[in-house]
Amino acid sequence: MDEIKILVVEDDRSVLNLITTTLKINHYSYISATTGNEAVSLCASHHPGLILLDLGLPDIDGIDVIRTIRSWSSAVIIIISARGEDNDKILALDSGADDYLTKPFSIEELLARIRAARRRMQYIAEQEEKSPVFINGDLTIDYASRLVTVAGTEVHLTAIEYRLLSLLAANAGKVLTHSYIIDHIWGGGVETDIISLRVYMASLRKKLRAIRPGLNLIETHIGIGYQMPRLQALPDEG
Ligand code: CA
Repeated sequence: MDEIKILVVEDDRSVLNLITTTLKINHYSYISATTGNEAVSLCASHHPGLILLDLGLPDIDGIDVIRTIRSWSSAVIIIISARGEDNDKILALDSGADDYLTKPFSIEELLARIRAARRRMQYIAEQEEKSPVFINGDLTIDYASRLVTVAGTEVHLTAIEYRLLSLLAANAGKVLTHSYIIDHIWGGGVETDIISLRVYMASLRKKLRAIRPGLNLIETHIGIGYQMPRLQALPDEG
């Protein structure tokens, strides 16, 4: 498994130092933020695999940070909070957090949670590899043969269109930002802009709709990115 990047969000400098020092000593790669807005922005630009999030932040509430990040990221989110009330934890988990740690916590407890999060990430990755066919409504993607069909009819895609569709499928139900898509399809440092991405998406959408005109497999979120909604099969049009 690749090395994970951890985002630490904490406005209390002494707690932040304790966590980052622990991560450094244990050879974890990390970035840190002291406000909610900074956390959302760093998450969008750095795609951390794990987020350690304080709920009480100076600008926006931690719950709102979770909701925002969760709308387009599958990162494992562990809440670190001084709030002992169960209601806050439940609200955080319902909003998309994976686990929580209550202050004060021990270093050993923190490291154990990080190890558990990594096992969970590895399990998710393995499950994804095991499933050879993706099905969403009338769309199927057979990853082994790279065969894409809509309502049983093969769709001929270019290599980039296939990768775009696979990325949207792997994140079905989540909004993917322009920069996230560009990073994942073309890699860092490659000059591809949003206008080019729009052209590729239009072409992909056109090929899918050529078979089923009513099919909405790619939703545009203006100014943000794209999303493949989870679909039920359409009723037969014939
Ligand atoms: Ca705080």
